[in-house]
Amino acid sequence: MTDADFVAALAAIVGAANVLTADDAKAGYLVEPRDLYRGRALAVVRPASTDETARVLALCDAQRRPVVPQGGNTGLVGGQIPDASGRAVLLSLARMNRVREIDSASNTMIVEAGVTLAAAQQAAETIDRLFPLSLASEGSCTIGGNLSTNAGGTAVIAYGNARDLVLGLEVALADGRVLSSLGKLRKDNTGYDLKHLFMGAEGTLGVITAAVLKLFPRPRAIETAFVGLETPAQALALLELAQGAAGGAVTTFELLPRIGVDFVLRHTPGARDPLADAHPWYVLLELSSGSPHGLADTMTSILENALEQGLAQDAAVAASRAQRDAFWALRERMSDVQRNEGGSIKHDVSVPLARVPAFLEAASAAVLRLEPQARIVAFGHVGDGNIHFNVSQPVGADKAAFLARWVEMNEVVHAIVMEMGGSISAEHGVGQLKRDLLPAAKDPVALAVMRAIKATLDPNGVLNPGKVI
Ligand code: ZN
Repeated sequence: MTDADFVAALAAIVGAANVLTADDAKAGYLVEPRDLYRGRALAVVRPASTDETARVLALCDAQRRPVVPQGGNTGLVGGQIPDASGRAVLLSLARMNRVREIDSASNTMIVEAGVTLAAAQQAAETIDRLFPLSLASEGSCTIGGNLSTNAGGTAVIAYGNARDLVLGLEVALADGRVLSSLGKLRKDNTGYDLKHLFMGAEGTLGVITAAVLKLFPRPRAIETAFVGLETPAQALALLELAQGAAGGAVTTFELLPRIGVDFVLRHTPGARDPLADAHPWYVLLELSSGSPHGLADTMTSILENALEQGLAQDAAVAASRAQRDAFWALRERMSDVQRNEGGSIKHDVSVPLARVPAFLEAASAAVLRLEPQARIVAFGHVGDGNIHFNVSQPVGADKAAFLARWVEMNEVVHAIVMEMGGSISAEHGVGQLKRDLLPAAKDPVALAVMRAIKATLDPNGVLNPGKVI
């Protein structure tokens, strides 16, 4: 089939208006927001239904055309961007944006892949429920992408990763069949739980078209504190103290370094330091409760004990919604503002919780041996053992020359992660960025099983080739 015939066949499935071939129409899909990955595609195809998605996949499979699925195009590892060959079909799920059903009795909702995370959260709110997945890009990232990458974010400590929030899944397979298991069952032990194959597979095994999501009671009380402390070890001790006092009510526990707070204050108009003095480290601590009463007392008691035991030097509790938002902005802007400080070499890693302080110490020392003036901005989901170990360039250094050391620096940091029994990809996925790192980081038997599954579900290798494995 010629390119022109192939495009016509795609148009016959989704309508000519939903097959984009002009360069300017395709452009927004082929570069990710940070401009780190650029690709080319024969066409951007925008199906409106599961049936259309499945038929597009069957056609691409028959014609041996690579298919790159894409949701909100916010992924950080290049998983949603095609290669430079120009042969690929970029499959945008953006038009599949219906909330199919909300079921308050079962505490579930069925949403399509293109529903944004923010829209899913809002849909849950309409029946006074919480969909707890929460990430900085929630306004534009989509459920399909969240599940395909098994997204993490700031509520994992209480509610788990994306895969923990799913009861059922609908997936279009490479050959055009639809694996439909949109069940709402909390218990179902009828063999292999196939949905978990597709979550975290980054579109290499099938295309997620819809999901049954779990809903939770909405909190009736939220208490947010910004705590200054001296060491990451104190942060872990504070976590133990907080969970001992509040249990599952600890819904956020994020670590921030002073330099990261400085970056946010410097590059965010109106931002203020919540505490009078500077501290080497901070924790953003949030408690949520289904009961409207008593949570403020719990927070006060946690903070008093922490100060008494020397686990914290100072703390502020948000007294208003605006103050809470201001505390959160210090955390949520931390990634963005690094670009104002020049080049930044990133690591999205996790280690067992108890090893976090040792990891931070060892990795920081190793990075400073490589580049003594580097500015280490290590922050993130310390309650999950997940650190975004980012390294900003020295002040005044050449950005390109610094970024040229990306691989070298990754090797040093990842070696420490591996030695501590950690993961080199905690929550962002593998995509293009870490594909070649996987063989060294993954058990060879696990890799062989992954390849066998890939060969079974995608024998022609059309699904997101060049990603993950
Ligand atoms: Zn994160």
